Amino acid sequence: MSDVLVLGGGPAALCMAAALADQGLSVALLAAHDLRQPWPNTYGIWGEELDALGLGPLLEHRWSDCVSYFGAGAVDPNSPANQPTPHRRDYGLFNRQALQSHWLAALERGGVELLQGTATALHVLEAEGLTALQTREGSTHQARLVVDATGHQPVLVQRPDEGPVAGQAAYGVIGRFSAPPVQPGQFVLMDYRCDHLSPEQRLEPPTFLYAMDLGDGRFFVEETSLALAPPVAYDVLQRRLQQRLAHRGIQVLEVEHEEFCLFPMNLPLPDLHQPVLGFGGAASMVHPASGYMVGALLRRAPAVAQAVAAALADPQASSAAVAASGWRALWPRELRRKHALYQFGLEKLMRFQEAQLRAFFATFFALPDPLWIGFLANTLPLPQLLLAMLQLFVRAPWSVRWGLIGMRGRELRLGLRLLWPVGG
Ligand SMILES: Cc1cc2nc3c(=O)[nH]c(=O)nc-3n(C[C@H](O)[C@H](O)[C@H](O)COP(=O)(O)OP(=O)(O)OC[C@H]3O[C@@H](n4cnc5c(N)ncnc54)[C@H](O)[C@@H]3O)c2cc1C
Repeated sequence: MSDVLVLGGGPAALCMAAALADQGLSVALLAAHDLRQPWPNTYGIWGEELDALGLGPLLEHRWSDCVSYFGAGAVDPNSPANQPTPHRRDYGLFNRQALQSHWLAALERGGVELLQGTATALHVLEAEGLTALQTREGSTHQARLVVDATGHQPVLVQRPDEGPVAGQAAYGVIGRFSAPPVQPGQFVLMDYRCDHLSPEQRLEPPTFLYAMDLGDGRFFVEETSLALAPPVAYDVLQRRLQQRLAHRGIQVLEVEHEEFCLFPMNLPLPDLHQPVLGFGGAASMVHPASGYMVGALLRRAPAVAQAVAAALADPQASSAAVAASGWRALWPRELRRKHALYQFGLEKLMRFQEAQLRAFFATFFALPDPLWIGFLANTLPLPQLLLAMLQLFVRAPWSVRWGLIGMRGRELRLGLRLLWPVGG
């Protein structure tokens, strides 16, 4: 029996198991597949977020020339509608093998037991202060606490049903092209130019290009929808990507890899009183405004692990009591209030038309750098986050302000959670 059994084999599970082992706890990690198997996703992050954690060397690619396009686009390349907005910050892509190895090495140092199996059910043995976890393969594992890090559709963690969940959908290609789809050496966070679309298409849900030069003549281009419920279909994204490239006279010469990306952006917070703790996608940790999560895993795991270790120091503590300590550390009141605020903001962006969205982002990225960077990383204290939102409102054109003022659907309910967050 171990102190903690972590479920999952993605970034969240490895990160949490490593943080728990760092606390001197006995930890087992159960994944449905071999933990050394390469991850399917590639993860991006702002350079300074990773530098602040001393993990900059885990990046495989790092770009200093990072831009977005918030103009409508035009045939004349010198038109103001084609001018990039510089971000003045580095962006990077993790070397996913290095990130995985970084955590696997920590697991080995911490003596974490690696198990393979598919978790199916949990039994809380109140009298013994234990939890028993069953696998599809027929084995049972006992621990004082189980952490569910099995992703956005967790096997054990429960969440309330609050209606349709919006997904960030994207279709991308890594390959070679007849001409560079972005400037050599450049990273493009969001290219919202839309002069390749018909007037009818411009009334459809907006999408943007996320793209980068990977070196040696290889580029990654991805047509992305920020968030929508139901999500934008892959065939629409694929068609829009082809149309965008064709409009700029670019042909795809060689497809090395196609990416079909879909993950939830606005999952409700889980029930914070359940006897199993969640982490990562399972605990709704994806940033509802940006879709990023890996930086949050790295920043938030140590405090959660510390709270779990402190609770386990009491030999009488039940699994439910230990899980409750973990949930409180993972989702303290301030973070729950900020989560509500981000969800409230996303709700508004999802109904913005293309021109409104371009104006919104142009204003957002013109905010002082620490504000937009802290907003995207979720590192601003609540008062500063509110200040960032207020400054955005004041600086935005009226087309955006009207969109921000009008309350529709579940916006009012989410807005009120700023004052009265879920979980008290
Ligand atoms: C294509 C894509 C691109 C993304 N890009 C970024 C990005 O650039 N930057 C960023 O910060 N975020 C990004 N995200 C968002 C988020 O960081 C990822 O979804 C991330 O992989 C979530 O990590 P996770 O460990 O919570 O879940 P997952 O990575 O989904 O891992 C879940 C793990 O649990 C295992 N599992 C599932 N069920 C069971 C079970 N019953 N028993 C045992 N094990 C089980 C699975 O095999 C898997 O190993 C992206 C997401 C996607 C889908």
